[in-house]
Order: sequence, then structure tokens, then C-alpha cells
Amino acid sequence: MSLIVQKFGGSSVADAESIKRVAKRIVDTKKAGNDIVVAVSAMGDSTDELLDLAHEVTPIPAPRELDMLLTAGERISMALLAMAIKSMGYDARSFTGSQAGMITDAQHGAARIVDVTPGRLRDALDEGAIAIVAGFQGFNRDTKDITTLGRGGSDTTAVALAAALGADICEIYTDVDGIFTADPRVVPKAHKLDRVSSEEMLELAAAGAKVLYIRAVEYARRHGVTLHVRSSFNNNTGTIVYNAGATSPYAAALLNGEPVEEPIIAGVAADLSEAKVTVVGVPDIPGKAAQIFKIVAKTNANVDMIVQNVSAASTGLTDISFTLPKSEGQQVLTALTNEQQNVGFAGLQYDDQIGKLALVGAGMRTNTGVSAKLFEALFEAGINIEMISTSEIRISVVTRADTINQALRVVHTAFGLDGDGEAVVHGGTGR
Ligand code: ADP
Ligand code: ASP
Ligand code: MG
Repeated sequence: MSLIVQKFGGSSVADAESIKRVAKRIVDTKKAGNDIVVAVSAMGDSTDELLDLAHEVTPIPAPRELDMLLTAGERISMALLAMAIKSMGYDARSFTGSQAGMITDAQHGAARIVDVTPGRLRDALDEGAIAIVAGFQGFNRDTKDITTLGRGGSDTTAVALAAALGADICEIYTDVDGIFTADPRVVPKAHKLDRVSSEEMLELAAAGAKVLYIRAVEYARRHGVTLHVRSSFNNNTGTIVYNAGATSPYAAALLNGEPVEEPIIAGVAADLSEAKVTVVGVPDIPGKAAQIFKIVAKTNANVDMIVQNVSAASTGLTDISFTLPKSEGQQVLTALTNEQQNVGFAGLQYDDQIGKLALVGAGMRTNTGVSAKLFEALFEAGINIEMISTSEIRISVVTRADTINQALRVVHTAFGLDGDGEAVVHGGTGR
């Protein structure tokens, strides 16, 4: 008998019919003789709707109350799902995050899991019931308040439960057939990967592939959880996200052994959520970059790419540009403006019309010429590159936001990633 954790995303439980379909699927897995713990997301786009509602009431909702509001979404779906399963003659019990023992730090809206104490889930399993857990939510022991794990956080709930319970596999059910070489909504020729390393998946998720939440991938990597990302709309095998050398026997069977050689490129991803700040006319003397980024760091902003231009010999001044999430732009601009006199720069520019494309692949390590091919493909499409950064297994470029989808498609083709057919998206709005 196996212990399986199954996570169903919002698009898989969008309405009553879908909930019944998912319930049947869970019951089928149970009938096959498995123990099952389910993590479920809020129905459809209901988290977005609750968020919109909050902003209609006030432009800056109180974080504690916002978490109270948003966690209501998962409470609805968990209860409906448990009812549906019970009506099929199987025992099911729903649990909020705190009942399921998801203990987090106190950071509302982006809480981190610090402990998982799934005693009540174990009891339910021992009594033959299916345990249904509200995704995306936790509880802080000090403040005694309800927290949320960040958008897309139900993935993390599932992975954390799988780790704590020692599950054989963590299945992430969604509205596409697995992890593709690019977002199938944008690149219809994207093809499904049979397997991807957690290292590559981490880079793809960080670069905007929202099919898995980055913190869930990190957690799975740290705790050795193997993921199976698959569609809730069919029974096809999806994509295995494996941790090199540590694949569970269950996942190894799905994989038919460990990969012999990794492909050079796993996929491409794009991110439109960032903006670019340029500090113009910075004195080109030691210590200025340190001064600027100390100011930025104090705002807790997540700086991504940094580029410093060559200074003009005649002026001794240089420009420094960096990217960061748009949501953090205003506070960073304010902080820098307050220190303009001290640092001695001439001005600030803010550009929120950028897009970031990332090409990811473990095989890049040993392959030269990957960046040349990427730049060539963009050049041939007439797309200008504004910034470049690289890691061992990733190359990222910043372009204009309105060229990013075309950029994805031409790069996808240039690296021979185009599949034969057209990728299917089964549901969801992509919101
Ligand atoms: P869920 O509601 O199940 O959590 P999400 O909307 O969070 O689903 O994630 C699934 C979506 O992720 C897909 O519909 C797809 O548009 C998007 N996506 C982005 N990049 C990829 C990728 N590389 N492979 C598959 N899907 C991707
Ligand atoms: N419902 C939450 C969200 O929309 C969590 C999740 O779906 O993973 O972000
Ligand atoms: Mg998701």
C-alpha cells in the first residue's frame, strides 16, 4: 500500500461538476488500495475575486485580515470535496491548515512553513478516511493567527505534507498535462517533458513558469520529495520532477530508471512582473554600488539582475540598472530619492514595461554556444536585448514587455524544442 499526496489546483475544482470529477478520481486511487491525503486550492479564480473585493473596500488591506479573507477560499473547496467523497460512500474529513498542523512563521501573505505536525491526518488515515487539507494556509504559534503561504502556495502545502508523512509520491494535478518546454498558453508548440530535475525546475519556476510555485520546488528539493505534475482532466502520465540520485522507488518506476544524459535545454520561461530601475549619473568611484544597494536592501526588495555601464571618461559618471518586482518599485524609488544627496547620483529612471526571458537547461554547463544561439535568434526576430545575466544552468535576458511572447516562441524554435502537435490546455483562465 502506498501513501499518496494529491494536490488539486483551482482550475481542477472550478465548479460543482469539477469537484465531483476530482472526488471520483480520489476515490479511484483509494479503491486501488492507497492511503490518500489531498491538498486543495480555492475554486477557480476565487482567490483573485476575494483579493479584488478587499481592494474595493480599501486600497491597502490589513495583512492579518487579508489572510483571514483569502483562507476562506480553500475552506469552501475542502468542505465541498469532502462532501462529494462521502456521498460516494467513502470516508473523508476536511482540515484547515492549522488543524492539519501547518505551522508557519508570522509573515502574513508570504509565510514560511517552520513545522508540520500532521497528527490529526495520521489519525484520519488510520481510521481509513481520506484527509482533505486546505492548501495555502497555516498558523503561527506566537501570534496565534492564520497565515497564507504566498500565491500558488497550495503546491507548498502538498509538498510539506508529503515530506512530513513520508509519502511515496506527491502528485500535483493541474489544467495541463505536465511541465512543458514553455507555457503552452503562449507557445502552442511547447511539448511535455517526461522528467525534469528539481534544479532545472527551480530555475524555471524562478523565471516565471507558474505551473509550480518556487517555494514548493525548493521544499521538495530540500526534503527529497519526488513530484508528479499531471492533468486532472485525463489519466496520462505527466512530468516527474526528480532529485538526482534520490528518486523514490515509486517515481523510479514511472521514470523507467534515472536519466542517462540530460538534454541541453529543459525549457524557456518569461516573467512580466518585474520593473527596471536606473540610477543615472553615479560617480564612478569605489563604494558607490555598495552605498546604493545598501539603501535598496533596507527596503527588503528582491533585486534580480544588475548591470553597470562603462563610465564616460569625460564625466567620470556611470549608470547602474537593476530589476526588481514591480510591487517593490515605489518603496525603492522613495528610499533612493531620500539619499540622493548622500550618494550623489543625478537622477532615477523607472521602467515597468520590461519582460524577462530565461532559457534553462542542466546541459548548458558543458555546452558552449548556447548564449550565441539565443542572441542570434532574438536578433533575427528584431528583438533588442537590454540586459543579460547568467547562472550555471540559465541565461536570462530583458527585452521590451510587448516582445516577450514573440521572443519565447522564436527561442523555443531556435533550440529545437517545438513539438509535433499543439499543446492542450484543459481549463483555467490563466489568470
Ligand atoms: P493550478 O490552478 O492547478 O495551480 P496554475 O494556473 O497555477 O494551475 O498553473 C498551471 C498553468 O501554468 C498552466 O495552465 C500554464 O498556463 C502555466 N504554465 C506556465 N509555464 C508552464 C510550463 N512550462 N509548463 C506547463 N504549464 C505552464
Ligand atoms: N488559492 C491560492 C492562490 O490562488 C493558492 C493556490 O491556488 O495555490 O494563490
Ligand atoms: Mg498553481
